[in-house]
Amino acid sequence: MKERDGLWQPYPVEYKRGRPKEHTADALQLCGQALCLEEMLCCEIPEGALYYGEIRRREKIMFTPELRQEVKELLMEMHRLYQRCYTPKVRPGKGCNACSMKELCLPKLMRGKSVSEYLRRGMEVDP
Ligand code: SF4
Repeated sequence: MKERDGLWQPYPVEYKRGRPKEHTADALQLCGQALCLEEMLCCEIPEGALYYGEIRRREKIMFTPELRQEVKELLMEMHRLYQRCYTPKVRPGKGCNACSMKELCLPKLMRGKSVSEYLRRGMEVDP
């Protein structure tokens, strides 16, 4: 929005139902969103926030060079997997129940047999 007059500063806020976690996945997701907004709006976004519904609090996240680099490395890894047509196996966990990607990810399918195993068994001939 470089052609817009006035003072403005995008501030991404990601809403989560639960509470802060041990891992950095939420911060990485938010940083990825900030990188997209920076690209779209031609601006710099130094920070954002994660809002956790269970504790009803915002947690400020600084988009440090290290966090940005981690996001970029994960995206490059994702592209490498995509080029290899490889879908990593997921380990379904209790976080899956509240995940907005559940209907696309279908983590329960990972518990079943692979397609090749299913076909191999179907083609076996009883002696
Ligand atoms: S549903 Fe898929 S994307 Fe969501 S938490 Fe489970 S494994 Fe991860």
